[in-house]
Amino acid sequence: MSSSDDDDLRPATRLVQGGRRPEWTGDPRLGGSIVNPPVWRASTILYDTVADLKARGHATHDKLYYGRRGTPTVWALADALTALEPGAEGTLLYPSGVAANSAGLLALLSPGDHLLMVDSAYEPTRAFCNGMLARMGVRTSFYDPLVGAGIAELIEPETRLIFLESPGSLTFEVQDIPAITAIARERGVLTMLDNTWATPLLFPALAHGVDVTMMSLTKYAGGHSDAMMGSLTATKAVWPRLRQAAYQLGQAVSPDDCALMLRGLRTLDVRMARHGENGLAVANWLAGRAAVGRVLHPALPGDRGHALWTRDFKGTSGLFGFTLKGADDAARTRFVDALAHFGIGFSWGGYESLVVPADPAAIRTATRWTDPDPLVRLSIGLEDPADLIADLERGLAAL
Ligand SMILES: *Cc1c(COP(=O)(O)O)cnc(C)c1O
Repeated sequence: MSSSDDDDLRPATRLVQGGRRPEWTGDPRLGGSIVNPPVWRASTILYDTVADLKARGHATHDKLYYGRRGTPTVWALADALTALEPGAEGTLLYPSGVAANSAGLLALLSPGDHLLMVDSAYEPTRAFCNGMLARMGVRTSFYDPLVGAGIAELIEPETRLIFLESPGSLTFEVQDIPAITAIARERGVLTMLDNTWATPLLFPALAHGVDVTMMSLTKYAGGHSDAMMGSLTATKAVWPRLRQAAYQLGQAVSPDDCALMLRGLRTLDVRMARHGENGLAVANWLAGRAAVGRVLHPALPGDRGHALWTRDFKGTSGLFGFTLKGADDAARTRFVDALAHFGIGFSWGGYESLVVPADPAAIRTATRWTDPDPLVRLSIGLEDPADLIADLERGLAAL
């Protein structure tokens, strides 16, 4: 049952079958196989003879070599993620989304290079550019997420990489990814996308011309707020550089966490559909409230990213923002504190709803966030949306 190799399988089927190779789920001597790849914990791998040890000295992806290079539990998760992304050669796993982003940037950039980074990027991604990359002699220019084909004018002779995040996970601008990747390919510049919001289910990134796609598996892939991990999935052309860098950086993920991630992945399709549906119910309700300024949700027809979202995305996840019209920070705090069914906390993509106040104005440099109304971000979980709406109504009353 290694049907994840079949080209014609649809994503929901791939989620169910991914990583369940016979050699990872059973042993002919045991007379059968089990459904899930078991947790193989290892540092040392033992060989029968010196000849065996020497023969395996240059082992690659799916032969046991040393714990850091993974065990079948780790390979099963990487395999399942690769099977989900059409056009992918392989997937590397990192202990967090931030680690995956940093490793991807380190793998693809050298001193003297120039990086184009989207101004709406996740804040720690920006911090890595302004910190470690700057120290290494890599120059970063931040660009307007709505630049579209205008990216052509920003490419310099030293530009090696364009980094995208769409929709921006705080402000929800949708980028014209096909326009940007087409120009990047023409100019010999690589592209890397933080695809945590959409996952390959809603936006198959490589099929849209992206070279490397990153996910914080901590969010929707894991889906249960109990494990952290990040992934990089790449085309054949870029894969060797990423793998080389991964071996040198030496970051290893826990097989136990991989088993949790695999468990989350099996239900990603049904969870995403429900997160999206519940999120839209809440967003539509908010859009009709007098106390609400703007709802930042690309699936709403009035949203500035709606046309691009409709053209490129297969659905919506449950993360979006909205502003409180004419409110100040104290009123926003009263609103958030009054909610009973939303956890106050960072992260998102778990089964439980979360709320967080957000202040994008202080983070940006290439563009300005001019909306004076305070912003709130919601991660809509799997509760009944009617209960969430009743809760938000109580919150608005506390304004
Ligand atoms: C959370 C997040 C990350 C970082 O992931 P961690 O697993 O928390 O390190 C990266 N990008 C986006 C868009 C995120 O929301």
